[in-house]
Order: sequence, then structure tokens, then C-alpha cells
Amino acid sequence: MATKEKEWISIPMTVDVPYRFAAGEYLTKTLTELRDNGRIYAVECPKCKRVQLPPRIVCAECHVKNERWVELALEGTLAGFTIMYLPLTDPTTGKPHEPPFVYGSVRLDGATSVMDHFVDVEPDREKVWVGMRCRVVLRPREERIGDLSDIRFFEPLPGQKKPQPSTH
Ligand SMILES: [Zn+2]
Repeated sequence: MATKEKEWISIPMTVDVPYRFAAGEYLTKTLTELRDNGRIYAVECPKCKRVQLPPRIVCAECHVKNERWVELALEGTLAGFTIMYLPLTDPTTGKPHEPPFVYGSVRLDGATSVMDHFVDVEPDREKVWVGMRCRVVLRPREERIGDLSDIRFFEPLPGQKKPQPSTH
């Protein structure tokens, strides 16, 4: 006896979820400095001396209040990267970033933590490597709005070559 397949009905719908994230006191300071002065500020833990970006009010390791602000360099070192072959939706615009492209984690000079962003470099493993020196490229002052998109991307410092593995 043939069993009748159970019917499932699917209802397509689009869910619209407007959302506003309260940046809070510390992140507001960092984003305001970025927007108005093109500077990047992090906080240093008084105990373990970690310099955190995004800034946290309390050090998660030591449970003490972070009160010292540290201006970071607009240059740093690529700590990791991925070459993306799938489109990635930019959370600030909702638009896809067309692949292939490089997305990386850069440790700005003076910071303990890394910052993730697009890296404006050819998506070729000979052109990008861990340890590559990068700099922050900001939007012009009049285009900045006080979020991470005020940083357009990281770009490699000129004149670098990928270190080749030693043959002996
Ligand atoms: Zn700490």
C-alpha cells in the first residue's frame, strides 16, 4: 500500500527588523574621535596592560576598570586574513561586497587586540601575508558618520615583498 506523502506548506515572507545599537560611553568616544579627528583610541588595562579595541569599560581578564585612553597608530601588522570567494553582506550598508576580496585582522601599533576589516590588496596569496604592514584608509572628514565604515579599508604599506621561506 502506497503511503501518501504529508504535505507541508511554506509561506514566504520578509522580516524587517529595524535595530539601533547603543554604542555606550566608551565606544562613543572611539567613534567620535574617529569621525571628527581621524584618530583611533583604545583603552589600557591598569593591571595586565592589554590595550583593547573596541574599548571595554572593564578588563574581562582582570575585572578592573579601564580608565587610560591610548591613541593607536594608523598603521599595523596583518595578523590573519582570508580570501573571500563568497559575497559578504556589509552590515552597515546591507549591500554585498563582491568576491573575491581580502578580509583581514590588523593589530594596529600599540594595540593588543586586532581589528577586522577589508584589505585593499589583490586576492592573491603572493600579494598578501601574515606580518604584512598595513595602514588605515579613512573616508574624507565630510563623509564620516561615526561608525566602522569611516575606515574604508586597510591597505598595504608600499615597498613590501612577501618574505620567501628559507631553503635551508
Ligand atoms: Zn587586564
